[in-house]
Amino acid sequence: MQLGIYVHLPFCPYICPYCDFAKWPVRRSRASAYMQALQAEILAAHSEPAATIFYGGGTPNAYDAYEIGALTRLLRDHFPSPRAAHEISIEVNPELVREGDFAHYVASGINRLSIGAQSFVEPEIAALGRKHTPQQVERVVELARAAGIASVSIDLIFAIPGQTAGSWSRSLDSAIALGVDHVSTYGLTIEAGTPFERWHEREPGAFAGDDLEAELYGMAIDRLERAGYEHYEISNFARPDHRCAHNEQYWRNGEYLGFGVSAASYRGGERRVHTRELDVYLAAAGAGGPIPGEAERLTGIKAVGEAVMIALRTAQGVALQEFKERYGVDVAERYAPVVARYESDGLLERRDDRIVLTRRGRFLANDVCGAFVTFE
Ligand code: SF4
Repeated sequence: MQLGIYVHLPFCPYICPYCDFAKWPVRRSRASAYMQALQAEILAAHSEPAATIFYGGGTPNAYDAYEIGALTRLLRDHFPSPRAAHEISIEVNPELVREGDFAHYVASGINRLSIGAQSFVEPEIAALGRKHTPQQVERVVELARAAGIASVSIDLIFAIPGQTAGSWSRSLDSAIALGVDHVSTYGLTIEAGTPFERWHEREPGAFAGDDLEAELYGMAIDRLERAGYEHYEISNFARPDHRCAHNEQYWRNGEYLGFGVSAASYRGGERRVHTRELDVYLAAAGAGGPIPGEAERLTGIKAVGEAVMIALRTAQGVALQEFKERYGVDVAERYAPVVARYESDGLLERRDDRIVLTRRGRFLANDVCGAFVTFE
C-alpha cells in the first residue's frame, strides 16, 4: 500500500483570529531551529517509498523558497517515489509569494500549489484578519502557471461574517474565471479558545446561520459542478486528473507519516499525533529521539466505523466488496439500521455495489457519517 508524507511548517506572518492550528508568529531564529529539528526527525525515520508529500501549516511559504527546495530534496531522497514522480503539494499565503519562488519549487519537484485565497471580496478577507488582496491571488496563479506548477488549487471559506449569497457568488466566479484546477470550500467553524469564539459569544448575529450556510454550500456545488469541477469530496472540487492524491490517501484510510509539531501519522492501524508544544517538539526532534504525543489503536468495529465515515465523504462512497475484503465486514448488513434510516430520509443511496451520500446528504454529512462511528 502506498504511503503519504505530511510536513507541518507552523510559522505565520501573523495569527488569524479564527485559527486553531498549531502555529506561531514567524521569528527567524525559531524558524531555523525548527527546520533543523524537522530534518533530524525526517532522517531518523526509516527510509522507504512514498507517493505523495504535502506541506501544510502554518504558512509553509513563511520559509524562503530555497529552504523549501532543500527540504523537498531531502524528503525525495529519503522517501523515493514508487512511480515516475511524487505529487508534492505546498500551501501558500498569497501575500508572501515572491517573484522567482516557484522556479525553486519546480526545480525541487513541487508540482501542486494550494493558495489560501479564502475570498475574493476585500471586506471578507479583512473580516478573517487576513491581509492579502484578490489581485495578489490572481498574480500567484499567473506566476504558478508561468513556472510550470502542474496543479493549482485555491481554498475558499464560506459563512464569513458579512458574507451574502451575492458576495459568495463573486468569489466563486473569480475562482472559476482564474481557471484553477482544484477548489476547496470550507464552512467557517468557530473554534474553541479563538478570538472568533469570543466575537461569536458577544455578537452571534454577525455570523451566518445554518440556512445561509447551507445556501452558500449549495451554490458552491452547483456553480463549480456546472463549470466542470467534480465534487469528489464534501469540501473538494477538481477538474479531471486534478484530484489531490495526498488527501485521497487519507480518505481511503491509507497510511501516512506526519513530521513536525502537531503532525499526525497513521500506520499499522495506529494513529499517532505529535505534541502541540513547540519547545517539547524541538527538544525531542533535535535529539533524534521519539516525539512525545498521543497514540490510539483503532481496532474492530471502531476502525470500520471510522473508515466508513471517511469513505462516505467522497464521491465514491463505501465500496461494499472492497470493505468486505479489507475489513471482513459487510457494511450494508452490519449497519443495516443506520443505512435504512438515512436511505428513507433521502440522505444515503445505493449505487451499484456502493453506498453514497445523496445531494441532500452532502449537506448533513457530519450527522450521517458520524452515525456510523457511534453505532454499536
Ligand atoms: S495563516 Fe493559516 S495557519 Fe496561520 S494563523 Fe492564519 S489560518 Fe492559521
